[in-house]
Amino acid sequence: MRILVVEDEKKVASFIKRGLEEENYEVETAGDGEEGLTMAIERKYDLVILDWMLPKRDGMSFLKELRERKTLTPVLMLTAKDSVEDIVTGLETGSDDYLTKPFAFAELLARVKALIRRSEMDRGAELVFADLRIDPVTHKVWRGEKEIDLTAKEYGLLEYFMRNPNQVLTRTMIADHVWDYTFDSFTNIIDVYVNYLRKKIDRDAPTKLIHTVRGVGYILKEEG
Ligand code: CA
Repeated sequence: MRILVVEDEKKVASFIKRGLEEENYEVETAGDGEEGLTMAIERKYDLVILDWMLPKRDGMSFLKELRERKTLTPVLMLTAKDSVEDIVTGLETGSDDYLTKPFAFAELLARVKALIRRSEMDRGAELVFADLRIDPVTHKVWRGEKEIDLTAKEYGLLEYFMRNPNQVLTRTMIADHVWDYTFDSFTNIIDVYVNYLRKKIDRDAPTKLIHTVRGVGYILKEEG
């Protein structure tokens, strides 16, 4: 489980990091909203802990941008005790829960566990894009009525596309998320796999869903 902590107060950030690491979470930190946002978009986290008052980009703007980019990572916001307005705006903007400072670590841990559990349950639900449907539990895939057999890697690749529809995915992002490591000179492996996947998903269908973005990567979308 990977958690991103976006917090400019070093003491608070390291208090959270240390505590969560003791609970066997992998924790990365960012000291301002800009850096945090880049990390949250480019890497895959199971949860973001987001301080509301941040330099460069505040929590509000962070969250707006994150949700506009359809990144669905659960977000736990940290606010000052008296900022009810912030809490309301935060929840409306797409924060999943909040905690007011100061807080006891046990309380933070309980929220973290609940949010991750909830998002894992959501993850079990079927994903649908156009007439393409996948079941993250059984790894079954359908295009229209037809069931399609994929290898484990092809499935992983397709699930990544389905979780990030209408977004350009670079080869580096794909390598990071589907292979869990970055290729240096073997990014053509990704092209090979995308082609396998296309043959199975798109070849016999009237509408193509996986498109090449020349020089950048790939995108799952309905129109050419
Ligand atoms: Ca702060």
